[in-house]
Amino acid sequence: MSEPEPAATDSAAAAQAGAILRIDLAAVQANYRALAERAGGDCAAVVKADAYGLGVARVAPALARAGAKTFFVAPLNEAITVRRCLATVQPAPAIYVLNGLTAGPAADFLAHDLTPVLNSLDEIEAWAAAARSAERALPAAIHIDTGMSRLGLPANEVEELAQEPDRLKGIDVRYVMSHLACAEDPDHPLNGEQLAAFTAARARLPKAPASLANSSGIFLGAGYHFDLVRPGAALYGLNPTPGRPNPMRQVVYLQGKILQVREIDAPQTVGYGATHRADGPMRVATVALGYADGYLRSLSNRGSAWVGGQRVSLIGRVSMDLTTFDVTGVSREAARPGELVDLISADMSVDDVAEAAGTIGYEILTSLGHRYHRIYSGD
Ligand SMILES: *Cc1c(COP(=O)(O)O)cnc(C)c1O
Repeated sequence: MSEPEPAATDSAAAAQAGAILRIDLAAVQANYRALAERAGGDCAAVVKADAYGLGVARVAPALARAGAKTFFVAPLNEAITVRRCLATVQPAPAIYVLNGLTAGPAADFLAHDLTPVLNSLDEIEAWAAAARSAERALPAAIHIDTGMSRLGLPANEVEELAQEPDRLKGIDVRYVMSHLACAEDPDHPLNGEQLAAFTAARARLPKAPASLANSSGIFLGAGYHFDLVRPGAALYGLNPTPGRPNPMRQVVYLQGKILQVREIDAPQTVGYGATHRADGPMRVATVALGYADGYLRSLSNRGSAWVGGQRVSLIGRVSMDLTTFDVTGVSREAARPGELVDLISADMSVDDVAEAAGTIGYEILTSLGHRYHRIYSGD
């Protein structure tokens, strides 16, 4: 929707920011194509939560250009935003709303050409009523709960629907879908159990295309692919096969600016709570980002960065706008005010940062701050 920025860095804006976030749209597109190829059939793009924090206004059109024709979001307001972002794409992509018809009035779905994922018999009834009023068949996906216990028809509702398929009258069922709870662990028994439950439920319902796999599900094998796969995280470079080499291309790069370098000596302490204590002469670089940027406070005394070709340890607490690193071993030319340190880079992936923070890459991405100067490259 917004005009693409010039390829060159907007250097004035970059200079005014404490940290610079680069998002490689060509890598997102390459990841989309790789996943689509692996899946064999259709490949959707999950762009909920502002495309996992990367900026849906830039990411969704890039995915459409890479061939994505089906998009998934969570709440209705996201869907309306994505419809606007994709307004010029022809033919109009399908946008599915995972939160279902309860996410908003049926009239809003119709007005913006959005497709609900129907999560209960009540929602099916409401959409069938909307179809009667509209005097035409309306598209939807039907979500079956096979082991998440969050959204979707529970087993008893699937059974009721199987007994009374007329409840679907007026609904054009584009997909019957479910969602895997443990796909990132290929040895987890729930994968096979969910696959079996999904297959059994499908057999009870009127024939329709099927969708089961998220990013990691795609790597569980062809038996999980069905007619449509729904990757999110892997598009954005997170490793869908934890513990094994990452088959995806890195998408996100983050650099923070050094504001000051301080020479300290024992018994001085660093930061709030005095949680780091120097035990000898030490050089401390203060970098201009903090938890207000989504650089999680749980990285305190655990994170790291790269500067001058060396790994440096995060010392003390991450504060709102500032983070401190031990640059004692780094040359003074590399670690000086105005220089940039690498916080997410080829040397340190989003998954690595997540591990240090005691969380998952998904949370690191969706926390990425809006104070960062954002540069979109590729595409
Ligand atoms: C978020 C989500 C996905 C995408 O999951 P990833 O692990 O990010 O690939 C797919 N399907 C549903 C129902 C989701 O909620």
